[in-house]
Amino acid sequence: SIPLSFFGGIGGASACGILVKGSTYLEELARTGIVVFDKTGTLTQGTFKVVGIHPENGVTGDALVEAAALAESWSKHPISLSIKNAYGKDIDPNRVTDVQELGGHGVTAKVDGKTVAAGNARLMAKLGLTVPEITEPGTIVHVAMEGRYAGYLLIADVVKPHSAAAIKGLKQAGVRKTVMLTGDAEPVAKAVSAELGLDEYHAGLLPGDKVDQIETLLAAKQPKENLAFVGDGINDAPVLSRADVGIAMGALGSDAAIEAADVVLMDDDPAKIALAMRIARRTLRIVY
Ligand code: ADP
Ligand code: MG
Repeated sequence: SIPLSFFGGIGGASACGILVKGSTYLEELARTGIVVFDKTGTLTQGTFKVVGIHPENGVTGDALVEAAALAESWSKHPISLSIKNAYGKDIDPNRVTDVQELGGHGVTAKVDGKTVAAGNARLMAKLGLTVPEITEPGTIVHVAMEGRYAGYLLIADVVKPHSAAAIKGLKQAGVRKTVMLTGDAEPVAKAVSAELGLDEYHAGLLPGDKVDQIETLLAAKQPKENLAFVGDGINDAPVLSRADVGIAMGALGSDAAIEAADVVLMDDDPAKIALAMRIARRTLRIVY
């Protein structure tokens, strides 16, 4: 393999699929001591798959999946894509009206004129519906039709093959603290965090809560230490801007995230963060 010293600065980084939006960010990267990750699509593949269909109250499994898929038809969230894949049929957009996507909650819409809600327990609580306690590990999408609970879909996501190595690489590169922030439920967050050996995680966060967590972490920084945030979603844009270094996943990432970021990883590989830090440090050593 080619030694790192062969590459210089921004050009070298870009040859490795790391887009750095200016030399100041190279310098900021070199001093990063805390790396905060979004979970879905960043540490996990974000390519969810429906692995369980659990209708209730006389609804059929097919009707449950159809209602959820149509309600989710406009959403670009990876959860939504998995439900549309499970449905597998073309969706007539005329059947779906009044679509609303609530960040960190789910969606509501009218399907064939009937109200449908699809999302987590928090969304159901907002609609005044109580849901069964589910202990299966995975993301649960509850569905309500015409204000009645209709059952849930169990959706699985897997950790990216490079994520564990990425965390290890960051530690080796001298990163003091690795943190995961997620809107997903506690059991999923706990399992992912343990699998990856993260120092800290915070689950059940709304998009605004993620900014608050970043503020808390920024306030506890050591002198001259930088905090980097790595994310992919539309909701992540405010957090990406608030971090000292905002790093976006470029392939799966939303346009808003890519725009708000200082560094873009073109192939969504989290292991590239440690590489970017090593390139940054080497470059600074050459420059000064
Ligand atoms: P993360 O913080 O892991 O990136 P998000 O903030 O995107 O996750 O979403 C948090 C939670 O909100 C999801 O785990 C899911 O329960 C719910 N959710 C968000 N968008 C949708 C959607 N389109 N359909 C169903 N559930 C959703
Ligand atoms: Mg996300």
